[in-house]
Amino acid sequence: MKQRINLLIAFSVIALIVLSTVQCYLVKTTYDYKVAQFHTEIKNTIARISNNYSDIDSVIVARKEALYKQLSENYIQGKNNKSEVKTYILENEYNDVLTQKIQRKFQRELPNLKIDFAIVLNKFVLYQNAKKIDTIFSEKPFIQNKLYGNLISLNHAFLVRSYVGTTNGTYANQDYKLLTEDSMYVSVIDWEMIILGRMTFVLILSLLSILTLITLFVIAIKALIKQKKVNDIKTDFINNITHELKTPLTTLGISTRILERKDIRDNDENFNAIVDTISRQNNRLQNLIDQVMANSLAENGIELQKEKTETEDFLLSIIHDFKITFPKVNLQTDFQTQKTILVLDKFHLTTAFLNVLENAVKYGSHKILIKTRIVQNQFSISIEDDGIGIEKNKQSLLFEKFYRVEQGNLHDTKGLGLGLYYVDQIIKAHQGSVSVVSDLGKGTQFTILLKV
Ligand code: ADP
Repeated sequence: MKQRINLLIAFSVIALIVLSTVQCYLVKTTYDYKVAQFHTEIKNTIARISNNYSDIDSVIVARKEALYKQLSENYIQGKNNKSEVKTYILENEYNDVLTQKIQRKFQRELPNLKIDFAIVLNKFVLYQNAKKIDTIFSEKPFIQNKLYGNLISLNHAFLVRSYVGTTNGTYANQDYKLLTEDSMYVSVIDWEMIILGRMTFVLILSLLSILTLITLFVIAIKALIKQKKVNDIKTDFINNITHELKTPLTTLGISTRILERKDIRDNDENFNAIVDTISRQNNRLQNLIDQVMANSLAENGIELQKEKTETEDFLLSIIHDFKITFPKVNLQTDFQTQKTILVLDKFHLTTAFLNVLENAVKYGSHKILIKTRIVQNQFSISIEDDGIGIEKNKQSLLFEKFYRVEQGNLHDTKGLGLGLYYVDQIIKAHQGSVSVVSDLGKGTQFTILLKV
C-alpha cells in the first residue's frame, strides 16, 4: 500500500511537472506572439504616419540630398576618400533638428507610448555609366552609423522599416546614380510591461489552473495518506484487542480445566485461589469491553454530570487512590491555585486523570510531578513524568482514536490506543484543552487547561 502511494505520488508529481512545463511553454508562445503582434502594430502605425521622413521636413531632406550629391562628386573627383565621405555623412548638421521633429511627430500620433528611435545608414553605393559599381559604404545596421534619433543602442530595438533612396546626377559628362539605404529602429520604453498588461488574463488563468491542480493534488494525497493511517490504526487496534482478549480467555480456560479436577475442588484454599483468578480475569474482560464501549459511546457526544468541585481536593483524592495502586512511584504535587472551585464531571475526569497517570507509569516513569497554576484566567494542571518520552513527529497523533506509538511492537506495553483519545474527548466536553510537550528519552508533560 505504502509503495503504491509512493508510486502514485511520483506519477502525480511527474504529471504536474509535465503539465506545468506545457503551461509555461504555452505562456511563452503567447508572449512571443504578443511581442510580434506589438511590433507589427508599431510598424503599421509608424508607416501610416510617415512614409518617408521627407514628409516630415522636405527642406532638410532636400539639403541632405544636395550634400550626398556633393560628396559623390567629391569622391568621383578624388577629393574625398571613402572614410571621409562616411564621416561627412554622419556628421550632418541637420541631425538634431530632424530628430526633434520626428520625436514630436511620434509624441503627437502615439501619445500613450514613449518611443526612442534611430535611423542608421546602411548603404552608400555609386553607379557610374562607364565604371563598375563603387560601394563607398555598405554595412550591417550599427548604432555608430546613426544619422538621426536618440537611441543609444540597437540591442532592444526592432526594425520598423528601411528607406531606399536614389539620386541621379551628372558630373564631367558622366551620368551617375547614387543608391542609399537607411533603416529605422524603434524601441518602446517599458514595452515588457505593455505586453504583460495585455497578457494579464492569460497569466492569471494559467496560474489559477496550476494552483488548482496543485491544491487538488495535495488534497487527494493527504486524503489517501489519512486513509492509510486510519487503516493501519484499525489493523493495529484489532491486533491489540485480540491480544488483550487472548490472555484472560486463556487463563479462564486453564482455570476451568483445573476446577474440573476433584483434588482441587476438595481443597478449599486451592479452590478459592482459582475462583479469585477467574473473577480477576472476568473483571479484566469486563474492563476491556467497558473501555471499548465507552469510546464508541463518546462518538455520540458525552453527557456530563457536572457539579461544583473543589479542584485541589478532587485531585488529591485521585492521587491518594493512585498511590495505593502504584506505591513504588514517587508522586509529588505543587499546587498554587488555592482551593479553586470549578464545575466538573468528577467521574469522567477521574478516569481521564488516571489514564494520564497510568500512562506515565506504563511508559517508564518512576517520578511524577503534578502542578496546578492559574494561567491567563485558566486552570492549568500539568502532569510531568520522567518516562521514555515521545518522538516529536508522533506527538500530534497521540489524541487520535486507537493511536499507539508502539505500533507493531505489541507485547512491550499493552493498550488499545484509547486512553488519550478519551482524555481529549472529556477535556473538550469541558470546553478545555490538553496538550503535550515531550523529549524522547527524557519524559513527557501533559497540560490540561480548564475554564475558570
Ligand atoms: P495506550 O493504550 O497505547 O496507552 P493511549 O491513548 O493512552 O493508548 O496513549 C497513546 C500512545 O501515547 C501510547 O501508545 C504511548 O506510546 C504514548 N504515550 C502516552 N502517554 C505516554 C507517556 N506518559 N510517556 C510516553 N509515551 C506515552
